[in-house]
Amino acid sequence: MKIDAHTQLCGLIGNPVDHSLSPAIHNAAFEAEGLNFAYVAFRVEDVRGAVTGMRALGLSGLSVTIPHKVALFDRVQDVDTLSRAVGALNTISVRDGQWSGRNTDVAGFLQPLRERNVRLPGCRVSILGAGGSARAVAVGLAGEGAVVTVHARDAQKAQAVASLAGGSVGAFPPEPGSWDLLVNCTPVGMQPKTDASPLPADALRHGLVYDLIYNPGVTRLMRDATAAGCGTIGGLDMLVGQAQEQFEWWTGTRPSAGVMRAAAEQRLSEFNVDENHLV
Ligand code: NAP
Repeated sequence: MKIDAHTQLCGLIGNPVDHSLSPAIHNAAFEAEGLNFAYVAFRVEDVRGAVTGMRALGLSGLSVTIPHKVALFDRVQDVDTLSRAVGALNTISVRDGQWSGRNTDVAGFLQPLRERNVRLPGCRVSILGAGGSARAVAVGLAGEGAVVTVHARDAQKAQAVASLAGGSVGAFPPEPGSWDLLVNCTPVGMQPKTDASPLPADALRHGLVYDLIYNPGVTRLMRDATAAGCGTIGGLDMLVGQAQEQFEWWTGTRPSAGVMRAAAEQRLSEFNVDENHLV
C-alpha cells in the first residue's frame, strides 16, 4: 500500500476498537482495487471532539460502532430514512464538506439471504435478542415482507424491536417448528465462550439458522443446526456485506467479497492465536 500526500483517509470510531476486523477488510480491498485510500481504527471517547477534528482533517468516510451509533445522528447533515427507522447509523460519507449518514447493516444482513434466494415475503422469522443488531435485522426483514417474532429475555426491549417490524413478541426460546428462519442477534456463543448456544439443540428442527456472530466462524448454534438438518449462514457474510456497501459508497467501486472475507479470516486467526497465548 502506497501512502502519500494524496491518500484519502477513512476510519472507524468506536470504543473499544481493538478487535475490529474493519481495518483489515477495507485496506485489503483498497489495495486490491488499486485505490489510494487508507483505513484506520480510532478509539474515541469524546465523540464531539473527534468529529470536529475529523472535519478539520478532511476524512473521506467513517464507520461508526458501539457506543457512537446513536450519538452521531445530530452531528451529520443528512441521515437516510433507513438509519432513522433503525435508530442507528454505522457509516458516514464526506463529500464537499457535507457529512451524510447511512446504516449498511440492513443491506449487509439481507445480502446473504438474497444470494441464497431465500424467499422472505411471508417467511416466519424468529429473532433472538433485542439489541442494536436486532433492530437492523427487524427493519430489514419487515421491508421484505417477512413475519417477524422477537424472542428476548427483556419483554419490553423485545416489544420495542417487534414494533419496528409490525411483528410480535414470542417466548424464549421459540417453539421448534414455529419459524422458517431463525436469526441469532445475541452474543451467546461468541469467543471465548464458544461452547454456549442461545438455544437448546432440541429446539432446532428444520429451516435456516443465521447467526450474526462471526468469531468463531462456525458457532455451536450453527453446528447444532446442521446436525438437526437446518441450513446455516454465519456472521462473516453480513460483516463483509455491510463493508462492501460502505466501501462502494466512499469510493464508487464495488469491492470483491472474496478479498474482504479472506482478510477478515486472516485477521480473526491472528486474534485467536494471540488470545490463546494470553490464556
Ligand atoms: P447488543 O446491542 O448488546 O444486544 C444483545 C442482545 O442479546 C440484547 O437483547 C441482550 O439482552 C441479549 N443477550 C445478551 N446475552 C444474552 C444471554 N445470555 N441470553 C439471552 N439474551 C442475551 O448487541 P448487538 O450489537 O445487537 O450484537 C449482538 C451480536 O451480533 C454480537 O455477537 C455481535 O458481534 C453480532 N453482530 C454481528 C454483526 C455482523 O456484521 N455480523 C453486526 C452487528 C452485530 P439484554 O438487553 O437483556 O442484555
